[in-house]
Amino acid sequence: MAKDKASSSNPMDPIVALCKRRGFIFQSSEIYGGYNGFFDFGPLGAELKKNLKDAWWKDMVHRRDDIEGLDSSIIMSPKIWVASGHVGGFSDPMVDCKASKMRYRADQLFFAPVVVAGETIGYVSTLEDADMQAQAEQKADKLKRKAGAQGELEPIVLKDYTEADPSEYPLIPSPATGEPGSLTAPRDFNLMFETKVGALSDNSATAYLRPETAQGIFANYKNVVDTGRVKIPFGIAQIGKAFRNEITPRNFIFRSREFEQMEIEYFIAPDADWQGCHREWIDRCLEWLVSIGLPTEMLGEDVHPQEKLSHYSRGTTDITFQFPFGEQELWGIACRGNFDLTQHQEHSGKSMEIFDEASKSKFVPHVVEPSLGVDRLLLAILTAAYAEDEIGGEKRSLLKFHPRVAPYKVAVLPLVKNKPELVEFAQALYKKLQRKYNVFWDQSGAIGRRYRRQDEIGTPWCVTIDFDTIEKDGKFTLRDRDTTEQTRIDEAELFAMLDTQLH
Ligand code: ATP
Repeated sequence: MAKDKASSSNPMDPIVALCKRRGFIFQSSEIYGGYNGFFDFGPLGAELKKNLKDAWWKDMVHRRDDIEGLDSSIIMSPKIWVASGHVGGFSDPMVDCKASKMRYRADQLFFAPVVVAGETIGYVSTLEDADMQAQAEQKADKLKRKAGAQGELEPIVLKDYTEADPSEYPLIPSPATGEPGSLTAPRDFNLMFETKVGALSDNSATAYLRPETAQGIFANYKNVVDTGRVKIPFGIAQIGKAFRNEITPRNFIFRSREFEQMEIEYFIAPDADWQGCHREWIDRCLEWLVSIGLPTEMLGEDVHPQEKLSHYSRGTTDITFQFPFGEQELWGIACRGNFDLTQHQEHSGKSMEIFDEASKSKFVPHVVEPSLGVDRLLLAILTAAYAEDEIGGEKRSLLKFHPRVAPYKVAVLPLVKNKPELVEFAQALYKKLQRKYNVFWDQSGAIGRRYRRQDEIGTPWCVTIDFDTIEKDGKFTLRDRDTTEQTRIDEAELFAMLDTQLH
């Protein structure tokens, strides 16, 4: 799978610029110079994000009989994170550069020995990047020339820093300085943010901001079983904030330190066909992504090889997306067996068994876990929707959002603002629409410019109220964002169209 480019590359630039210009996403704490790894969602970003979450909730919870919703607290008993293994092992390998004070994820720092005519003349290193192989080869060529080495340069075989032999650490150049000798051995860096709860500030007060929403589901599984009417197989879904002290947040909102997740734990019997259930979830998730506007050809599947699976996982497949910086994980779908519930059963002393009426047996269920990042999805949606074309010889940039997720569904535009009956008609329609949808009102400027403004923020339809509307038949112009086609319709037709398109 292609890897993501370093954040200094620019395929993201038009999207980042558009997000800022139109109020989708801002760097957090911008007035104080920003705060790395945190973002704020402006008026349009907040709408887009809400629409994504609403669509997911509607399709995964409301429209299914076998999934219940949950909203658990962000800070929970630290015992939960001990039981889940996060206190002990939720870490990334980190390497420090003593010279520059930079920190890197060791598994994202790649290196290779440079061997000329059978002799190692030095090392090259590069940060994970879509074309890191080419970069490393260039560096090796340069090193060979500088050393004046004669003979054939052997192929450059990149490995990540976690695979380095300790004797190689002092020989590998730091990506910051280009010189060897300053990189430390990799060490585990726990990604959980710590905080203190209560008035005491000793160790007993230490708590964590949750690094995933999933454990809130496991911790409440018994409550849902005991109070609801669920029967195996069933799922519990949750949307909420998660926090990870990422060593190298990058690629805009792709990897940040505060983000939101939409997770489902789908509980199945221990003897159920878990592979079949896993496949069904992968297919369902792919279908859902397409249904909200991601093109099939930008989606892929990355099956984790057996030897790279976490100890509790029986199988994990990531749905990937072609981000501008490379193909990357969007949605992880993991079969976690009964690891989490068994851990909580052991650590809490509470039984996590369920009685299954159908088989008249008692067991701790297994789970399939589809886990999707809201912010990553939003970035994918923005990337896929962004387009540039030419209308009547004029360049335009537009966001081809699926109507379901578009921040505004309709813009109401009175053709002129100095004709009271016309503006009144438009206002009445605007108010009626507003009761059901998020609608934009714009009465100033040339109509072409007003259309362009809506195209750029992804509003699928504009309705223009003109003289014919008030003088003739009450019909107005409906303009389509993508085709720019215009048709005359009346109010009933408009509401019927919106009802079918936005269900
Ligand atoms: P990675 O290997 O990329 O660090 P992960 O495999 O640990 O991520 P999961 O724990 O499977 O990620 O998280 C599930 C989902 O949550 C991911 O597919 C992604 O959409 C989202 N996610 C995880 N970490 C981040 C982050 N730092 N910023 C934004 N979204 C994230």
